[in-house]
Amino acid sequence: MLRRLAKGFITEIAKKIYRKTIFRLFSDFEKIRRVCLFVSLQSGWKNCIKVKFMDISAIREDFPLLKEKVNGKPLIYLDNAATTQKPDKVIAAIDYYYRHQNANVHRGVHTLSQTATDLFETVRGKVCKFMNARESCEIVFTRGATEGLNLLAETLTQSIKTGDEILISESEHHSNIVPWQLAAQKRGLVIKVLPIDDEGMLRYDMLDELLGEKTKIVSVAHVSNSLGVVNDVKAVFSKVRNKCGKEVRTIVDGAQGIVHRKVDVQDMDCDFYCFSAHKLYAPMGIGVVCGKQELWENMPPYQGGGEMIKDVDFSGTTFNVPPYRFEAGTPAVADVAGLGAALDYLETIGLDDIFAHENVIMEYAQERLSNTKGVKVYAAKAPKAGSLSFNVEGLHPFDVGTLLDQMGVAIRTGHHCAQPVMKHFDIPGTARASFALYTTKEEIYTFVNALERVIKMLA
Ligand code: PMP
Repeated sequence: MLRRLAKGFITEIAKKIYRKTIFRLFSDFEKIRRVCLFVSLQSGWKNCIKVKFMDISAIREDFPLLKEKVNGKPLIYLDNAATTQKPDKVIAAIDYYYRHQNANVHRGVHTLSQTATDLFETVRGKVCKFMNARESCEIVFTRGATEGLNLLAETLTQSIKTGDEILISESEHHSNIVPWQLAAQKRGLVIKVLPIDDEGMLRYDMLDELLGEKTKIVSVAHVSNSLGVVNDVKAVFSKVRNKCGKEVRTIVDGAQGIVHRKVDVQDMDCDFYCFSAHKLYAPMGIGVVCGKQELWENMPPYQGGGEMIKDVDFSGTTFNVPPYRFEAGTPAVADVAGLGAALDYLETIGLDDIFAHENVIMEYAQERLSNTKGVKVYAAKAPKAGSLSFNVEGLHPFDVGTLLDQMGVAIRTGHHCAQPVMKHFDIPGTARASFALYTTKEEIYTFVNALERVIKMLA
């Protein structure tokens, strides 16, 4: 008994020394990194050696909310898959719009209206470039990924026959399930589900079995929001094209994908790619569906109203060309301005550097969590981006999240709007830590230490 107590005591002390050493190493590493950054910037080596150091401390200065305290503790914000914080540049763009540019778009001959229209259309062009779409008219602004997927579910299913099939996957967000179910109920369509394996990866081997003559739409997430698993959508669509031809519509729910991976819609060969701007450091209430021009042209409108018409008469209405046909009513122009500012901001930092940094954070978080006693990390072997889901043996994720919040750590708990995933693993929910370009190793370190304290408190 005494020996066991002594052993436990020594292990605890050893752990504390280990943590302190690691933390000091981080601080030293941070100092070295800053010196390297300074030297490389001063000397112009940066371009020669093609190594760019992301100055995370400077980047964090751009995000005012990261300086907040929560429950008296410095905020560690690890709920980025739900929404990311906004940089000053984005907040300033919205502020500037309302102070100096506010007018309705596309409707006025007056200068202010033209300024607002120019701004709106310039951002459309920036989004087009960001996703490597062919033309900016392929970019339709929506309220978010949810509205984009509803738009597609409603309009694309109008021209398919009763009994035709829509293939989605088991790991979809409810936004990529329910709109298809609503359309299927209305039009007598069949929903087929591509299962995931116990690592949360799509069962690519089952595509052959599930695709057939009746398949008309395939819609899958680029990155799963509940597990963070990166799906090989290009491989899925290549299979779809080989087996079912060009007439099947291929859709990507890119709500998480566009944040953590370079998106090239032409390379992916998808017909449509949807995302919400608020997960990409831009404002809430704005999103995008990028679609092939020739497809938009033959699609019926989603909503009726101003802007989407060519001619209105009581005998009938003719519709505007895409993208305007799908943008009924006054759009969220200030939020579009914010999206433009967010894309500029990301470009300044560099997507490659951002994703490389996020990969380091993901690896470190997974290693630390996997080595924490009683913690089970889901999809541990799968390629992941942005989010890490876990549970603590014997504890409800809600309790874990609530106590972490008391320590200033914001994570998400629950089913993450992906109940079929929770059913697959036979669990009520998970705790999910999700990362962004401003997440630091130190934050992960503090988060895992806080989690260890929570485990001790609830054990
Ligand atoms: N799909 C995925 C994969 C998501 O993560 C989310 C947001 N959690 C959505 C769709 C819906 O996005 P929004 O609520 O912004 O419309």
